[in-house]
Amino acid sequence: MHVTVRIEVARIRTNAEAVRRRTGVPLLAVVKADAYGLGAAQVIAALRDLADGFCFFSFAEATAADCWRVAGRPGIVMGPPGDVPAERWRELHVRPAVATPADAEHLVAAEPVLMVDTGQQRFACPLELVDEALRRGSIREAMTHASTIEQVRRFTDIVGGRGLTLHAAGTALLDESAARLDAVRPGLALYRGAMRVGTRLVEVRDLRGPAGYTGFSVPRAGVILCGYANGLRIGPCTVNGRPSRILEVGMQSAFVECAAGDRVGDEVVLLGESVSEDAVAAAWGSPPQTVLVQLARAGERAWTR
Ligand SMILES: *Cc1c(COP(=O)(O)O)cnc(C)c1O
Repeated sequence: MHVTVRIEVARIRTNAEAVRRRTGVPLLAVVKADAYGLGAAQVIAALRDLADGFCFFSFAEATAADCWRVAGRPGIVMGPPGDVPAERWRELHVRPAVATPADAEHLVAAEPVLMVDTGQQRFACPLELVDEALRRGSIREAMTHASTIEQVRRFTDIVGGRGLTLHAAGTALLDESAARLDAVRPGLALYRGAMRVGTRLVEVRDLRGPAGYTGFSVPRAGVILCGYANGLRIGPCTVNGRPSRILEVGMQSAFVECAAGDRVGDEVVLLGESVSEDAVAAAWGSPPQTVLVQLARAGERAWTR
């Protein structure tokens, strides 16, 4: 492989410890989409003593990861429950999130969690059906996918004060004490700074005029074997530790701006150290979660303690 994706497990633990300290409530670690590319199996094993539970998107993900066997912690599946029977959820020690009174009743033996719609308008129960769903599913726990504090208020207004366990906050709301409720449910906050993606220059030259498909023009450029087929897009990078940028991305290669001393074999960092998820996300015009899942596929992953 031309690109190395190194995942620092100790950093994920440090992040989880920081979330616990910062919030003071139980931590439900979101490990959907293979823990945003960092490896659900590794993350679950690493957080067995720091997370109170794990959140998946699908039953298939939860089955593959088996957090009860690996870490002795229960799970929640946040996406649609599909037609998996209640006994199978119970065997796995994973509870489905339900969004309709019918699913709540059908899965009552699996102790479903009610997903309340506070604005997302997908996979969640409309406010006017919440009472019926709570009753028919004998619901004891409710959640919402909130991105604003107003959504959290809408949530507690409708399900608060009834003795239910409530959680709403992902990474964006960790600093809002009013959003913490009975648990927090971050993904990104656990993974920031834990993935390093690096590669090496395979060609370097002083350019003679405009280069590439786009005719970009710089005095000196290098080539790396990582392109949009590997999830790369135009953005920041470092060359030999110095801030630089991806000039143009092709299918399986990209041009990188170089300086006089840069040579073939020198290291280009696409994520890590001084190239943060946020810096790359800003260049891509998409959320930092995208950067992790996309660059995790750029090369073979290796986990370090
Ligand atoms: C993905 C997800 C989260 C975690 O989001 P982050 O912003 O990565 O912390 C929390 N809750 C639900 C329902 C989600 O789908």
